[in-house]
Amino acid sequence: MTTRLIVARTVTSLRRVLQRYRKAGEKIALVPTMGALHRGHLKLVAEARRRARRVVVSIFVNPTQFAPNEDFGSYPRGFAADLAALRAAKADLVWAPSAEMMYPEGFATRIEPQGAAKAGLEDKFRPHFFGGVATVVAKLFTQTSPDFAMFGEKDYQQLCVVTQMAKDLDLPLKVIGVPTVREADGLALSSRNAYLSPEQRKVAPMLYRVLAASAKRIKQGEPIEMVLEEGHAEITRVGFALDYLEARHAVTLAPVASRKDGPIRLLTAAKIGKTRLIDNLGV
Ligand code: AMP
Repeated sequence: MTTRLIVARTVTSLRRVLQRYRKAGEKIALVPTMGALHRGHLKLVAEARRRARRVVVSIFVNPTQFAPNEDFGSYPRGFAADLAALRAAKADLVWAPSAEMMYPEGFATRIEPQGAAKAGLEDKFRPHFFGGVATVVAKLFTQTSPDFAMFGEKDYQQLCVVTQMAKDLDLPLKVIGVPTVREADGLALSSRNAYLSPEQRKVAPMLYRVLAASAKRIKQGEPIEMVLEEGHAEITRVGFALDYLEARHAVTLAPVASRKDGPIRLLTAAKIGKTRLIDNLGV
């Protein structure tokens, strides 16, 4: 069964459709994405559908969250396939603005999140990233005025930053975190997995395996520092260049020394060849 899927490319046409939903008293859930949709994104759509009558999916590869040396130009794009997947997933509306629509000439405002955005994880390696994300997400929120906004735990620091921003700016919406969808071997689904060679693809699940093993050992009471040191060595041994493997407080992302410091989230980022993968797991 497929359903009618509307594509909006201007703020005016977007608002026209949204107004119709609102007039009918329908709740709206937003799923922000950069396209190249996979089962992870579709889980967000499914969760959105459980909460709201109308599901809006934004597809926008946001130039301001990529540094000049990053993969903006080569980031996977497949609009036709994305539309087919969203039709099958029964989304209602696709918001697909151009970069010129999002950032017209003279655009001069930027949100600079603090707190979790300065935790020394992704921000340390991609200092431009959360400013770009927060600014575009704030725009997506004001453009669509959703009741719910769905974000994957896959990008855990991003989920923390967006949740805090919505709270700090009194945005009248609820940010919902959705658990990470994985391949059978544990690798977290990511649009960037398409970059992996067959050899790299075989090694890639090690990142999750180390997270899972480390979480188990920490839960059993082994010292965090030692567990992470060994995890670091293992990730490096199989061929990754590790950016970080850290244990943080699951809400504040502050460093933790022991399990007594609160709920723990393990977070990691590592490069295999030119591809940078990130993952995380609760303890
Ligand atoms: P992206 O298109 O990569 O910006 O991702 C859009 C949204 O999908 C973000 O909220 C991501 O956290 C989420 N997402 C990406 N991969 C996964 C996954 N494997 N499982 C769950 N959510 C995901």
